Amino acid sequence: MDWSLLEKIGVAAQPHALLSDYTTFRLGGPCPALLTCQTPLQLEQTISHLSRNALPFILIGGGSNLVVSDDGVDCYIIRYYTPTPLIQQDHSRLTVSGSTLLDHLAEFAAENGLEGLTCVTGIPGTVGGAVAGNAGAFGRQVSDTLESVHLIDKKGHKKEACGNDLQFSYRDSILKRTDEMVLWARFSLKPSDIVRLKQERQDILKLRREKHPDLTAHPSAGSIFRNIEPTSRAQKRQAAGWFLEQAGAKRLRCGGAVIFDKHANIIVKGNGCRAQEVYDLAQKMRESVQEKFNLDLVREVRFVGRFDGMPQDIKEIIW
Ligand SMILES: Cc1cc2nc3c(=O)[nH]c(=O)nc-3n(C[C@H](O)[C@H](O)[C@H](O)COP(=O)(O)OP(=O)(O)OC[C@H]3O[C@@H](n4cnc5c(N)ncnc54)[C@H](O)[C@@H]3O)c2cc1C
Repeated sequence: MDWSLLEKIGVAAQPHALLSDYTTFRLGGPCPALLTCQTPLQLEQTISHLSRNALPFILIGGGSNLVVSDDGVDCYIIRYYTPTPLIQQDHSRLTVSGSTLLDHLAEFAAENGLEGLTCVTGIPGTVGGAVAGNAGAFGRQVSDTLESVHLIDKKGHKKEACGNDLQFSYRDSILKRTDEMVLWARFSLKPSDIVRLKQERQDILKLRREKHPDLTAHPSAGSIFRNIEPTSRAQKRQAAGWFLEQAGAKRLRCGGAVIFDKHANIIVKGNGCRAQEVYDLAQKMRESVQEKFNLDLVREVRFVGRFDGMPQDIKEIIW
């Protein structure tokens, strides 16, 4: 495939790229080509190019919620990601590209005395990935302050939607089912005290350093399973990590895939770890909770590509 048209507008094309270089788990085999788009215009043009040539693709952001198969994928990968924040401020509204890192947005908001995004401080990945998965922490999530988004579908059709149209729920939005992608997002925040916001940010970063794996030493994709939705018996959302700990999951391992010692819901990449071993360990974790509590844990991470043991009726590339 000739990528020169896209390269002229600044899209970086890497044929046969290894997905392990673009995921925080540092796992995953090759794809036919990986196309990195930093700006909404680059993303629009890349999607039209692939769509015109009937080339299948999937979009990733920071790759921080993905486990990619060791065999890789047979479709193109668009990586919508920029290390340079693309943020426009209009009083207390921030309009940001889906490719901007979520933590860069949280930092910008705090430094400009705007409240509403401090809770997402330190969450890896992009704004687009965070909107699609309604990322959050401390009982708050991006949907709380999201006003509207500019979306594009796989054929290149664009539309604007308000936050309410995205059917947000805990770690979920309709975007996971429609395959529409976030070009831009607009957040409506509240003016607040800069010094307090910056302090809150530092406190959260410290807490995350203590509780979460340092990705350079322990690659991972964060929590494997979602927390448990409230039932009539328990009105609060319950931590999946608690159930896993009680079920003895911390003793489990599969080859190089091991459970993070500080958190039973996180798998980290040990020596020689393969993506298949992460898949197998996640199955074992789920079974341990099923056996002890008769409870079905729901995955939060997305498995991309084919894995042994995956149900035959799963046809999608991202599961
Ligand atoms: C150490 C660690 C800690 C974490 N802590 C948290 C936490 O506290 N809270 C939390 O919610 N998550 C957490 N996560 C998980 C992860 O960071 C979030 O889910 C994040 O929002 C994923 O964004 P991403 O850009 O990396 O998406 P990716 O992993 O690249 O993709 C995830 C999904 O989002 C879709 N997507 C990506 N970009 C777009 C876009 N522009 N438009 C539409 N869809 C898109 C992809 O197609 C894919 O289906 C953690 C992960 C790690 C590794």
